[in-house]
Amino acid sequence: MAYDVVVIGSGPGGYVCAIKAAQLGLKVAVVEKRATYGGTCLNVGCIPSKALLHASEMFHHAAHGLDSLGIEVAAPRLNLEKMMAHKDATVKSNVDGVAFLFKKNKIEAFTGTGKIVAAGKVSVTGDDGKVQELETKNIVIATGSDVAGIPGVNVEIDEKVIVSSTGAIALDKVPQNLVVVGGGVIGLELGSVWMRLGAKVTVVEYLDTILGGMDGEVSKQFQRMLAKQGMTFNLGAKVTGVEKSGAGAKVTYEPVKGGDAVSVEADVVLISTGRKPYTTGLGLEEAGVALDNRGRVEIDGHYKTNVDGIYAIGDVVKGPMLAHKAEDEGVALAEILAGQHGHVNYDVIPGVVYTQPEVASVGKTEEELKASGVAYKVGKFPFTANGRARAMQVTDGFVKILADKETDRVLGGHIVGFGAGEMIHEIAVLMEFGGSSEDLGRTCHAHPTMSEAVKESALATFFKPLHM
Ligand code: FAD
Repeated sequence: MAYDVVVIGSGPGGYVCAIKAAQLGLKVAVVEKRATYGGTCLNVGCIPSKALLHASEMFHHAAHGLDSLGIEVAAPRLNLEKMMAHKDATVKSNVDGVAFLFKKNKIEAFTGTGKIVAAGKVSVTGDDGKVQELETKNIVIATGSDVAGIPGVNVEIDEKVIVSSTGAIALDKVPQNLVVVGGGVIGLELGSVWMRLGAKVTVVEYLDTILGGMDGEVSKQFQRMLAKQGMTFNLGAKVTGVEKSGAGAKVTYEPVKGGDAVSVEADVVLISTGRKPYTTGLGLEEAGVALDNRGRVEIDGHYKTNVDGIYAIGDVVKGPMLAHKAEDEGVALAEILAGQHGHVNYDVIPGVVYTQPEVASVGKTEEELKASGVAYKVGKFPFTANGRARAMQVTDGFVKILADKETDRVLGGHIVGFGAGEMIHEIAVLMEFGGSSEDLGRTCHAHPTMSEAVKESALATFFKPLHM
């Protein structure tokens, strides 16, 4: 038996699982068909999008955010090529980092397409067509996800005019008009990037709200903030066609509730209507591995498929399609394979939208609590009443804590505001320990910090905030 574990896919799920398994003393191989490691997240997802979000925010700030601080500078000029070079360099340093960690942990990495021949056997087909066969006690499917497209609409993504997120992080000029189909996290993040660089951005979304599944109050207020920044929203709109038109493209949609169809022209259309599990060419059918009704690999509570010795984690299985969820599953599975008791607490997985302001959320939304009949109380605190936020001119947004009415246990936390993606973690840690809003409200927070708004919202949950 050559390996204890062969992991197919080197995204956050696969590479973290491989590293953890190797750290626990297992003999590990990884198979990756891309030329570089790190999967969607490091190559074309989380990391490049954040590099562009940061750079475009700096550009926007230089153009609009300095004068009121008494800093007078000439209007900034965009060098998009250099901005893209920053993004590419960021990706390179991260994917190289994974290659270094593979070496450091004595993980053997194979470049090629992995296919499950049978339990205990994985074939690797290289670009040159050469096939190698690996023998292993355990196989981990970590093949991630791919762009889903628009249900019922035939869209030809050319990654130039009609683009997925992959094309949207590599445009060679700022579009004048960008239509974003799908008002979820990826659409709003990449829409923000190009809006800050000068594009007129229109979001077309099927639901009545953006960020479907987020706390309703959060998504409503966040939409208002984006609208104030210049983003246009067509909600409750069902896209029925996306086609090339002249040098650009045309998006046709009709109101979900009925009514006349409308067409909008754009020089670039971003299709960001979600992602689907990626299992193409993996040999799952031949190996007898079952999928669920949404095409995801079916697993039990220990990530095992219906076939002994074959496991799956990350975007290819149920649950939120998030890098840190995939990573935590990778760790838990490696522990299980090493005879330990790994697990993931799915009630405490934060979600962040890296726009400006950021939106961060953990645990239950108000809508979920209402639907499940749990008696809850709400504490809220706006950043307009926070000294640090005023000093930094980032007073947009608020913190909202939801706690059990009887026990005061915190059930959810939602933040819209500058640095929300960092602040959310104190609520996450508190929830992991089953803490109450009083625990949070009585914890000394440094002054002046944005995080004081978290403390104040907790105070508001069980008594009264001090500064409002
Ligand atoms: P992936 O990262 O998709 O990796 C799977 C890997 O498997 C790929 O490299 C693929 O080439 C390889 N593979 C597939 N089939 C085979 C095969 N047969 N043989 C060999 N290799 C194979 N999540 C966040 O948490 N935060 C963010 O900020 C964030 N931003 C995002 C921005 C964008 C634009 C996108 C598209 C996604 C973003 N995500 C973000 C989601 C995140 O990228 C995914 O949740 C995460 O990458 C899932 O990890 P994974 O390991 O399951 O799969």
